[in-house]
Amino acid sequence: MLHKGAEVISRPFFILVLLFMAHNASAAPIVIAHRGASGYLPEHSLAAKAMAHAMGADFLEQDIVLSADGIPVVLHDIYLEETTDVEQRFAGRARANGRYYALDFQLAELRQLRLHERSTHDAQGRKVAVYPGRYPLQATPFTIPTLAEEIDLIAGLDRSTGRRTGLYIELKAPGMHRRAGFDMAAIVLAVLRDKGYADKPEQVYLQCFDAATLRRLRFEHKTALPLIQLIGENSWGEDTDTDYDQLRTPAGLALVAEYAEGIGPWLKQIYLGKDASGRAQLSELVAQAHAAGLLVHPYTLRRDELPQDVESFDELLDIIIRQAGVDGLFTDFPDTVRAYLHH
Ligand code: CA
Repeated sequence: MLHKGAEVISRPFFILVLLFMAHNASAAPIVIAHRGASGYLPEHSLAAKAMAHAMGADFLEQDIVLSADGIPVVLHDIYLEETTDVEQRFAGRARANGRYYALDFQLAELRQLRLHERSTHDAQGRKVAVYPGRYPLQATPFTIPTLAEEIDLIAGLDRSTGRRTGLYIELKAPGMHRRAGFDMAAIVLAVLRDKGYADKPEQVYLQCFDAATLRRLRFEHKTALPLIQLIGENSWGEDTDTDYDQLRTPAGLALVAEYAEGIGPWLKQIYLGKDASGRAQLSELVAQAHAAGLLVHPYTLRRDELPQDVESFDELLDIIIRQAGVDGLFTDFPDTVRAYLHH
């Protein structure tokens, strides 16, 4: 009962905060550390999260998948081989498609894996770093954290530094998990309740590519936490029947506003390139989302992966922050964005 009361109070409170932000045009966008300070340390290691915290990120991102025993762990892919040493430690555990699914491993097995910098395979089939200028592609002592462990780390750092840092949690592939018998939304909300974050709408965002999952979070689970509809491209073949072309129309954005507080679009859905005179061309998406009352938090701004015709990270930040006017952004380099916002 107490919990229900808190929900009733906190969602209107959050809307008041949003209204305040909407009327305060000079409000700085929030800096969301994408998979931690992933420009410097292997993504989703607790080390990368501690570094992002020290760099002054407002929110730290958690991508969530489940272990075979239903424990939420912080890992971007539903697969293990691109960011861990699973092929060495558990040879033979791949599915017929050659991929190692986190969902096929008990938590005790996932704990035996060691994280490494994100990798891919080159034309010769060798494992190579996706971002060659980052942390070396080598063995590390870093392991896959559970969501609960990561929340403990962030809460602990908040306490020892006197800061207040937010969680920005993505539910990955809810359809695949549901087919395996798991309700990700219920499982993640249970951890947040246990850790005292379920009633902190100013300190937690929940994000998902799947509209149906967000609707369930809002209307079935009645969460008080703000929800962000991620927007991809239909051509990416995400495991969802969400139609991103439709979501990006004014009518689609009005539908999103029924269940979510904001959108998380792909950078290239906002910045379209330059015209003949060298001026940045922006889509209508940010203005249309704001007109629908939605926040806009695009992904992903990387110093070492600029759009083709953008000359520097500062120029990209000028375009996305000053010209497009977003409310927050996902970045692998929270320190650089923080420095930009201070000058
Ligand atoms: Ca994510």
